[in-house]
Amino acid sequence: MSELTNLGVKAIRDGVTDGSFTAREVAEAFNTAVADAAELNAFIVTTPDHALAAADAADAKRARGEDLGIMGGVPIGMKDLFATKGVQTTAASHILEGFTPEYESTVSQKLWDAGAGMLGKLNLDQFAMGSSNETSYFGNVNSPWRKEGSNAAMSPGGSSGGSSSAVAARIAPAATGTDTGGSIRQPAAFTGICGIKPTYGRCSRWGVVAFASSLDQAGPMARSVEDCAIMLEAMAGFDPKDATSLQMDVPAWEAGLDADLKGKKIGIPKEYRMDGTDEEILKSWEQGKEWLRDAGATIVDVSLPHTKYALPAYYIVAPAEASSNLARYDGVRYGLRDLPDGAGLQDMYAATRAAGFGDEVKRRILIGTYVLSAGFYDAYYTQAQKIRTLVSQDFEKAFAQCDAILAPTTPTASFPLGSLNEDPLTMYLNDVFAVPASLAGLPAMSVPATVNSDGLPLGLQIVGKPFDEQGVLNAGLAIQQRAGFAAQPEKWW
Ligand code: GLN
Repeated sequence: MSELTNLGVKAIRDGVTDGSFTAREVAEAFNTAVADAAELNAFIVTTPDHALAAADAADAKRARGEDLGIMGGVPIGMKDLFATKGVQTTAASHILEGFTPEYESTVSQKLWDAGAGMLGKLNLDQFAMGSSNETSYFGNVNSPWRKEGSNAAMSPGGSSGGSSSAVAARIAPAATGTDTGGSIRQPAAFTGICGIKPTYGRCSRWGVVAFASSLDQAGPMARSVEDCAIMLEAMAGFDPKDATSLQMDVPAWEAGLDADLKGKKIGIPKEYRMDGTDEEILKSWEQGKEWLRDAGATIVDVSLPHTKYALPAYYIVAPAEASSNLARYDGVRYGLRDLPDGAGLQDMYAATRAAGFGDEVKRRILIGTYVLSAGFYDAYYTQAQKIRTLVSQDFEKAFAQCDAILAPTTPTASFPLGSLNEDPLTMYLNDVFAVPASLAGLPAMSVPATVNSDGLPLGLQIVGKPFDEQGVLNAGLAIQQRAGFAAQPEKWW
């Protein structure tokens, strides 16, 4: 049954529906693949019984002639940032270790309602802060990819690195991710898979451990554009429990897929030609333009003049919000409590937070508290908010000239674990192309384009107008059809 693990969302759902195989066979195949892939360290906990129960429910529905739902019979991985009822939810932190929510996040509930089951909770950078999956309390995630001729362990990207590693290694057909400043797109690019961050507000944040609330968005990660469209449809929708949730119907993205881009204009932002961007990435960007032209689009030059300020602004706004969101982890309400002998309440707070948060999380809290403090607020936080507005206005102006923007997803391919840890700024630079769309709340997707001379995947990014996930998916589909990306990591785990 091992070939079942080569199937994606659509193939599994359609195969279960037409009786080519049972959902139980699929769940068993993936449960076995997950159990055999412990070396990837992609999962923090596995939930084989959840996957089997959902599979049995799908098979029973089929036997009764009922509709299976758009994710019917598909077992998925769930980033461990989504609260799952009765299943430990940690955000890959020690401070939440042992926390078992009494409630289910809206997004995960929607996926179960659409017929999906859960293989387990996926590892990530702690509190989704990181670009390499090296900040998890539960250890690094390994990418299934390696450079040709090398055994060095590679980064699956971050923060959704458990998700990218599992989907690329075919131990899950798809997984949830979250993207605050690139955490769906960068890991997707590093591992040769697709991932879309929808417009801010499309997917409910209710029950998702908060990092930076004005930026956090959930989205799907899968091996094809079609699979992303299906899964996003299941995840999205208005939720009265999230005050920033969009009151809009969910479009039929799967049915609307169309790779014919005749009449569409694709913008190429000149400011994304940055120093330090890998030559092979620039080459694949050129190739991407050709593919979109071939699909019928017109390529136009656009300008996003405030691009270079986006990353510094993000590293003020995101830590500011994080420092406030993470104030709730005090040893009283969730997970860890460190109560030294004879300690009072304040000592308990301090000891719990000192023991419970990792170094990167502490760095963010310190930066965030600093930029929000009286005397520095105007110099940093207010300025960053102004830049955020300017970045949004750049996109508005560009979208007067084009329908979508094509750019690289990342400035480099994946890197060996441990190689970028000297200086946090080097790591932060990974998201230089991803962060502007996050600040502007725009839908953005990474699609695999090619492999570089080391045999590592490179991704192309499409950024769309607000609410135009369909346009992003369609441009992604046009690239997918022309790229014919078929490379797979060689199994070493
Ligand atoms: N890598 C970025 C950061 O560390 C983005 C993370 C994310 O999108 N969750 O903040």
